[in-house]
Amino acid sequence: MARETPLIQDVADYCLQKGFRFTEPRQFVLDIIARSKKPIGAYEVLEKLGKKLKNPKPPTAYRAIEFLSEHGFIHRIESLNAYIICQSDHLHKGSQFMICDQCGTVLETHLCDLPEPLVKKTRDAHFHLTRWNVELHGICQTCYKPV
Ligand SMILES: [Zn+2]
Ligand SMILES: [Zn+2]
Repeated sequence: MARETPLIQDVADYCLQKGFRFTEPRQFVLDIIARSKKPIGAYEVLEKLGKKLKNPKPPTAYRAIEFLSEHGFIHRIESLNAYIICQSDHLHKGSQFMICDQCGTVLETHLCDLPEPLVKKTRDAHFHLTRWNVELHGICQTCYKPV
């Protein structure tokens, strides 16, 4: 299982390098989210995990999700309360997502820097920014029908 996909291998290498344990639940959860074509909620991840592990406890799934998202291998789509696999290099700053409200497809895109007007606002407020996330809702190219 650990050598199945390049992604799994990448995460395994990363964990080895950084001294994290790439436990079986972490591998399974990564695989489940990677195979899902649409953002997947934590409960559904747990359900699918139940097919691979015997009676996984919710915290097992949640902790694996937390680990993978903390290290940028998956992203939380806040407006959907669901997760997707990182479609880019997992060590990027800032995430933006284009979410199709019709088919649920999510396209990941990156601006590596926050746009200047927002940077200025945070500076003016003496606000210390740690992370940011922009979600754009709309209709994807496949679903869009011009009138
Ligand atoms: Zn990403
Ligand atoms: Zn669509």
